[in-house]
This record gives sequence, structure tokens and C-alpha cells, in this order.
Amino acid sequence: MKVRVDPDLCVGHGRCYVLAPDVFAPDDFGHCEIVVSAVDGALAEQARIGAENCPERAISLED
Ligand code: SF4
Repeated sequence: MKVRVDPDLCVGHGRCYVLAPDVFAPDDFGHCEIVVSAVDGALAEQARIGAENCPERAISLED
């Protein structure tokens, strides 16, 4: 599964990298950076949790 973040939608709440720190990380401004863009297993589950908890719906997952 591929993980993407739309930088135009991300405002830096930080929920993704708090809940899924192996997939997402903060940049210098607190916005989301992808740590691993191709995920499966436990990392895919983290990616799903991050996407579901992003208030801006900035994270998309693609099979
Ligand atoms: S939860 Fe959403 S808006 Fe917040 S940092 Fe992550 S991608 Fe950006």
C-alpha cells in the first residue's frame, strides 16, 4: 500500500505522527512527512490509523 500526504491540506495537527510514528514524522514546522511510503503489515495498520485520525483528510492510502 502506498501512503501520500497532501501538503496543501496538512495544517500540522500532529495526530498522524503521534499515533503512527513509524510511518509519519514532523518536519521543522510540525507538518507531516512520510517516513515510509510503501507499507504493509503493522506499518499499513499504522498508516490506516494515521489517515483515519487526520482532521484535514490530508492522508490518502492506495493499494
Ligand atoms: S494529522 Fe493530518 S493535518 Fe495533522 S500533521 Fe498529520 S497529515 Fe497533517
